[in-house]
Amino acid sequence: MPTTVPACTTCGVPTEAPTFAPLACICAACSHRFEVTLPTDGSLRTPVLGLRAILRGGQWRTALVDRASQGTFVVDPCPKCEAPVTIPRATMLALPCTHCGASQSLPIAGHAVDALPSAKMSGQTWGGGVDLTWTPEHRRGRIDQASPCPTCGAALPAFEGKGQCGHCGTSILALTACGQRVLPGVRVEGFDEGRATNRWLPLDEAIADWARRSALVSHSRGTTGRLFLGCGALGALFMLAGCGFFVLSPPLIERYGPGGLIATFFCVGAIPLVGFLAMVVWAVRRHAQKRKELGV
Ligand SMILES: [Zn+2]
Ligand SMILES: [Zn+2]
Ligand SMILES: [Zn+2]
Repeated sequence: MPTTVPACTTCGVPTEAPTFAPLACICAACSHRFEVTLPTDGSLRTPVLGLRAILRGGQWRTALVDRASQGTFVVDPCPKCEAPVTIPRATMLALPCTHCGASQSLPIAGHAVDALPSAKMSGQTWGGGVDLTWTPEHRRGRIDQASPCPTCGAALPAFEGKGQCGHCGTSILALTACGQRVLPGVRVEGFDEGRATNRWLPLDEAIADWARRSALVSHSRGTTGRLFLGCGALGALFMLAGCGFFVLSPPLIERYGPGGLIATFFCVGAIPLVGFLAMVVWAVRRHAQKRKELGV
């Protein structure tokens, strides 16, 4: 990929440096200090987040939402704790000239693209479970040219910041740097409650989608918790019913013979069984209602 930085201001020769000078960073979450070396070709960095980052899911979501509203620059995951490390978008990067050694300062927001991590989500839900991967997939084009809408393919006239496709209505965020327009987006792939999914979403929509699905998975977990409580209550009911069985069965056997025993046994067994089935139906319907509410 060609370099996207201007020629040296001292000697006028285009620099061949593949990277900017290392940038010192500090993690706000764990105070770990480290250096990041950003490429000069504006190439995308898409670190895959591990378990520690997933535990910090909320922090990553906030960092990317802040980024979408032009607040901060997302540098990288902290090498120690995987929290998102952010710096002001006005931060300057030092670019040493490979010919004369002079250094020029360039704004980070204009010459580098934020780290856009990929994430996975697996979870059991009362609708069949989700197993999805969010992988960054960005569309690039020249800043002065129309680009095709990533959703429907219609031509999007040149724009910066937030835009909307006039054809399909998809809202799109464009990051412009180094004469290029990047439409940051995410490919969401996997299985969503039994259905195979494979679609491209603009970054802000993908973040919202991730948040809605996290809410759905945790809501389902809450339902399971309540179901366990319900099972406890059913267990108690079953014990009571068992006691009833011992009290009721002798007079009924005396009167109706073995038929009386079977009838009593069936009634006693039916109470927890019907209760359990009712709870499962309740859980599935509660989940479907939440899914509708969230619009996923
Ligand atoms: Zn850290
Ligand atoms: Zn120079
Ligand atoms: Zn469109």
